[in-house]
Amino acid sequence: MTITAPSKSRTTEDKLGELRERLLEISDLGFAGAVLGWDQATYMPSGGAPARGRQKAMLSRLGHERLTDPALGRLIDAVQPFAETLPYDSDTACLVRVARRKFERALKVPADFVARRSTFSSVSYNAWTKARPANDFATMRPHLERAVEFSREYAQFFAPFDHITDPLIDGSDEGMTTVSVRALLDELRRELVPIAKAICDQPVADDTCLRGPFPEAPQLAFSMLAIKSVGYDLERGRLDKTHHPFCTKFSDGDVRITTRVRENDLSEALFSSLHEAGHALYEQGVAAELVGTPLGHGASAGVHESQSRLWENIVGRSRGFWEHFYPAVQSAFPDQLGAVSLDTFYRAINKVQRSLIRTDADEVTYNLHVMLRFGLETELLESRLAVKDLPDAWRARMSSDLGVAPTDDKDGCLQDVHWYGGWIGGGFQGYTIGNILAAQFHAAAVVAYPGIPKQIAQGEFAPLHDWLRTNIYQHGAKLKPAELVERVTGTPMRIGPYVAYLRAKYGELYTLPAV
Ligand code: ZN
Repeated sequence: MTITAPSKSRTTEDKLGELRERLLEISDLGFAGAVLGWDQATYMPSGGAPARGRQKAMLSRLGHERLTDPALGRLIDAVQPFAETLPYDSDTACLVRVARRKFERALKVPADFVARRSTFSSVSYNAWTKARPANDFATMRPHLERAVEFSREYAQFFAPFDHITDPLIDGSDEGMTTVSVRALLDELRRELVPIAKAICDQPVADDTCLRGPFPEAPQLAFSMLAIKSVGYDLERGRLDKTHHPFCTKFSDGDVRITTRVRENDLSEALFSSLHEAGHALYEQGVAAELVGTPLGHGASAGVHESQSRLWENIVGRSRGFWEHFYPAVQSAFPDQLGAVSLDTFYRAINKVQRSLIRTDADEVTYNLHVMLRFGLETELLESRLAVKDLPDAWRARMSSDLGVAPTDDKDGCLQDVHWYGGWIGGGFQGYTIGNILAAQFHAAAVVAYPGIPKQIAQGEFAPLHDWLRTNIYQHGAKLKPAELVERVTGTPMRIGPYVAYLRAKYGELYTLPAV
């Protein structure tokens, strides 16, 4: 029995314990802010807005203060030598590594900037909620100009960098850069444009069967059935209505989603519920012991979106899914769907067309909307495009990329909240990365368990869900996105599986150009 070794290790244990306690407090401040945000987007009366903005800003300020506390840095320094003796992917080694990255990143951003940007973000967002329906770009122009300035100011905290957008991209899709995102999007674009063009030149699928009217209550009941079936745990979550569907997390035991219902569009509530349930399955699947640390959530924006897209599109818009569920949806809406064949319904939910709105776009044209936004925001940050010229630039890109252009700004450059919440840059590439990774992960799951597509057609989602939980969800943010992708699929991120998925699925519905 030695005396020194145990006392040394106890000291490290104590310090690790204190580090975890401090990280839990920071995490709880974030979760508390999320509760306020969820309430604001669901049930809060509009009179609550001014106080709610102030309260959320205070919580984010407190979180930033604690995250940049020098005492936290000293603790990380103290436990680092011990963490380095552990395997790279052990919980503790990952915790110390990721906590250091978060600490050092937060330290570069002055508290004063965080507060100024938080206030600006609320003002800009509130103005946008009125300006978009009023088609009023002129009101938003000064806000957008300030947002460009804020994003440039933020990027400078991380200088030196190769490109002004790099720090913004790295903040949501760690490890990606302007150059690597651009290369990825260009490669995908070369594949997608001929496919989209060929499909859009063919007759548009008839989707009148989705127009209803469909009453709200059975729509919500069917959404509930679908999300429960794929594995969303309602003992640790709930579904509510909102304007813009989202998923939010308050703890390991409380991961909530929201949806919206349109009586004249059956796909809205159902697919936005499945999309958010995909995000929620990821968060509910993170190992409980990681929650409350910087590892206790998904690995990146792109990896997160891969799960919402996988469950919404690859599963939820598959023929197998509807072979199982179509009889149930028909009996929920006998007057509207009783005489509609499965094939007609399947073609309707997979209709491809030139469209103006990103969030309504189909799987084939969706990424073209993302590429347009990524291109324009990069030009704004590089000063190659002035905010005043954005509406025209938007219309020109829409015409050349999608063959359709909006007649107003409401359905043009005012349509997405992202730029009007105060950030230009870093917010859009994750959607396309998500589509690419959804197919890559799904293909890897099917290689491991070739029976998955057949099981889905029988309403058995557990084998796919279990594979995703084991290989992706439980690890939270322990690994960097690129490390996770390589570990799970055996290769770096690549567009091959996604293009193959689109060609196989849409090749059955349309005539596609030869490879
Ligand atoms: Zn999403």
